[in-house]
Amino acid sequence: MASEESAGRLNFIEQIIAEHEASGRFGGRVQTRFPPEPNGYLHIGHAKSICLNFGLAAKYGGKCNLRFDDTNPTKEEDEYVRAIEEDVRWLGFDWGEAALFASDYFGQLYEWALKLIQDGKAFVCDLSFDEMREHRGTLTEPGRESPYRDRSVEENLDLFARMKAGEFPDGSRTLRAKIDMAAANLNLRDPVMYRILHATHHRTGDAWCIYPMYDFTHGQSDSIEGITHSICTLEFENHRPLYDWYLDALEIYHPQQIEFARLNLTYTVMSKRRLLQLVAEGLVSGWDDPRMPTICGLRRRGYTPAAIRNFCDLIGVAKFNSTIDVVQLENSVREDLNRHAPRVMGVLRPLRVVIENYPEGESEELEAVNNPEDESAGTRPVPFSRVLYIEETDFMEDAPKKFFRLAPGREVRLRYAYFVTCTDVVKDADGRITEIRCTYDPATRGGNAPDGRKVKGTIHWVSAEHAVQAEVRLYDHLFAVPDPNEVAEGQDWTDHLNPQSIEVLSGAMVEPSLASAEPGARFQLERTGYFCVDSVDSRPDRLVLNRTVSLKDTWAKVQKQQLQKK
Ligand code: ATP
Ligand code: MG
Repeated sequence: MASEESAGRLNFIEQIIAEHEASGRFGGRVQTRFPPEPNGYLHIGHAKSICLNFGLAAKYGGKCNLRFDDTNPTKEEDEYVRAIEEDVRWLGFDWGEAALFASDYFGQLYEWALKLIQDGKAFVCDLSFDEMREHRGTLTEPGRESPYRDRSVEENLDLFARMKAGEFPDGSRTLRAKIDMAAANLNLRDPVMYRILHATHHRTGDAWCIYPMYDFTHGQSDSIEGITHSICTLEFENHRPLYDWYLDALEIYHPQQIEFARLNLTYTVMSKRRLLQLVAEGLVSGWDDPRMPTICGLRRRGYTPAAIRNFCDLIGVAKFNSTIDVVQLENSVREDLNRHAPRVMGVLRPLRVVIENYPEGESEELEAVNNPEDESAGTRPVPFSRVLYIEETDFMEDAPKKFFRLAPGREVRLRYAYFVTCTDVVKDADGRITEIRCTYDPATRGGNAPDGRKVKGTIHWVSAEHAVQAEVRLYDHLFAVPDPNEVAEGQDWTDHLNPQSIEVLSGAMVEPSLASAEPGARFQLERTGYFCVDSVDSRPDRLVLNRTVSLKDTWAKVQKQQLQKK
């Protein structure tokens, strides 16, 4: 329970809850809901709403429902319902016995529509959608009343029953609330409550051919479920008067709607419609493409539920829209993986190294630390032999002084192994380096010289005969510009897609401990980044790794350098 003393640190929603606790409005209850429409997969913006709603319920000892807002049969599918349930569970939240569906309330909503007709607060309208739009007026001009507005209660009841019975074609009639065509808030200008739609619903099948509008469903669903705080994004602020109007007109239990700013991220599109377009047009490999901001995409990319929850905590809730730097999301997963992910060695672009004075046909096992951040993670053996691979970028033939990696005549430490000195470079007919030759100092086993001699660089490596080949997928932002939604004339938002958002390295070599890694397993490749085993394409005979995030926030580094230059 939030105490009085901590009131200063409450976010604005918690302050409202505290006021309600003080006034006794909900008898001390806190009940929230997360209400997705099952017309797409959840994204990181939804995660913010999930963490907020389930988080408040947990904080105040209340409950949070998962309710599917399924009032639009033409766009909704069971596939989405199952995916949404999986994602919410994966994020670590529990909604109790069973998920709820707005479609379960269709019978009750129909009864309530009848009540509004009987009370003279709703009417059947024969205007087409186009005509209705014409009558609606604008922000500066009042609307005009429908010529059908004054139908008798009997006629309205008869027509509405016949709408329900399927006598009329789609779009020919609607049921509308009788509120005020001159209202400053356009949502109050006799809004549509029901439309005719001869469509099969994913749950109610063909039982209905009239479907309630979102605004006539949402508040009543909240009311039925005894929701106390109905939290939604800012776009719904000017729907709140209608939310309130329906509940008051129906004289039913009245929850409080509260709006907060939705999450926007740089280099990301978050609209479900746009994400669907990316999938439908094959611009990504699917909803779970690791470059997508979807929960399943982030999961496949290697994100942890804790990282996403921490991110949502960190960004907090506000009443004004803003855009969060995607670096913050990346930092959250980096921080979490730094603490928990085991370290292994792997070489993305292998360069062959022969240790000339190491006996042929022999090998040995060296002890490597699994996680310097967590002693309890222990150590593992890594095999070492005469032929190794190191990272191409860890060798330079004509190296500048400050290059602390391998170069002809220079000595470096092989992580957990020995000091080696480069003695020769082997090239092919085109002059490309194919191999380098080194000698090792057997006295430096474990990585320290008994004579106290120091080396500036430590590089990672794998033993060629023991290594496992892997396909490594390196990801960058899906969009090349910070705000992909901003388009110049004649441009499309998809023009902002980053052509370099994926790079596939097919010949990476990783240490043998990864041969048995399960799909989804996460680890750090030392000096290279955080990776996970791809849960879709990886097979026992074909290891596929996704880079979750690089080791360091390279952007922060770039920004710092720019600042120093100034
Ligand atoms: P659409 O309206 O296009 O279907 P939506 O993103 O609003 O898309 P819903 O399924 O209605 O999708 O969203 C479920 C809940 O998640 C809503 O309460 C909504 O306010 C919240 N939500 C959606 N997008 C965001 C976001 N970017 N940030 C925070 N909350 C969000
Ligand atoms: Mg919505």
